[in-house]
Amino acid sequence: MAGGCESINRVMRAASKLSKPMNLSLGQPDSDVPELVKEAARDAIAAGRNSYAPPQGLPELRARLHHDLTAEIGRDVGDILITSGVTGGLLLTLMASTNAGDEVIVLDPYFVLYRSLLDIIGVRVVSVDTYPNFRFDAARVQAAVSPRTKVLIVNSPNNPTGVVLTEAEVRAAAEVARLNNLLLISDEIYAAFVYDDAKRFPTPMRHYDGTVLLRGFSKSHAMTGWRIGYASGPEAIIARMTSLALYLYGCAPTPFQHAALAALDVPSVDLIGRYRRNRDLVVHQLKGHVEFALPQGGFYAFPPVPKNMSGTAFVDQAMRHDLVLFPGTAFSERDTHFRLSYCVAEGVLERACDMLVRLLETAPKWG
Ligand code: PMP
Repeated sequence: MAGGCESINRVMRAASKLSKPMNLSLGQPDSDVPELVKEAARDAIAAGRNSYAPPQGLPELRARLHHDLTAEIGRDVGDILITSGVTGGLLLTLMASTNAGDEVIVLDPYFVLYRSLLDIIGVRVVSVDTYPNFRFDAARVQAAVSPRTKVLIVNSPNNPTGVVLTEAEVRAAAEVARLNNLLLISDEIYAAFVYDDAKRFPTPMRHYDGTVLLRGFSKSHAMTGWRIGYASGPEAIIARMTSLALYLYGCAPTPFQHAALAALDVPSVDLIGRYRRNRDLVVHQLKGHVEFALPQGGFYAFPPVPKNMSGTAFVDQAMRHDLVLFPGTAFSERDTHFRLSYCVAEGVLERACDMLVRLLETAPKWG
């Protein structure tokens, strides 16, 4: 069975042959970068702000993020590093906090890149199963800790499940990390996309100063190709990450750092409102046909496939009907679910959900 990136590549290759796909596979906002943010990038380029930035990032962007985050979290959030996407932040944090042979705990299902990055740096992935409801269970995580464990990664809102951790859950994650002296990486790339009860975004950053918080602009401002993310956390680790950033890629793209500063004044309300409606549409249309964890944030849902069938088989069958999904095995030790991404036009989503219902209802005949 092809897992991880391999199964994603296989789906992408097959999808590229479809003439009119209903593509619910990609985690890429379907709208463009906001006009004001584009303008800021154009202005920066025209004004000649095109040379290397300091490896830690533009001081004015770092200062603004430090101010905003400290106000949101309610304590000094430490130092800030501007990264080349959240991917850059993940790689730097993992490299700065582990050595070959160490262990990192991830919650299964997980964002596919965690495993790939850890494989690259020779660090062992220890996955903790969170099926069927994908909630944080401190006892299960504690049982996975060994003397070699250095890091725990949490991701909320979650890719691929859409689950948003509660205040009690992030507190429990912080507690496990503190008890075992682990670095806690909190991947919050979807923090802007929380649909229910969004009084105060629950983050372990509020509860544990051994947290490295990772956020970025790829999703909130559709800037996936501009490669701007940021990390905040203890000074010592941010300093190590900064050295590594300098050796690995020099700096995050300078003009887009200027644009990111402008983006902080352009909230993503329209996008969030539209994706909330899309989330509601998916939940409404699939109701009664399949039971799955309510997606509370991000833009994914992760329903189970019918019994006696693999996620891969279900996704292959969907592909025969022009519907592109990712199999659970791309994100998990299991292959019992599929991921759908609902950051697409409403019309496409409606047709895709109709097809999904048909596939779920007829599965016993072709499964
Ligand atoms: N973390 C998660 C959970 C993601 O889903 C993604 C992108 N799909 C990333 C990190 C990487 O984001 P970026 O484009 O900023 O590198």
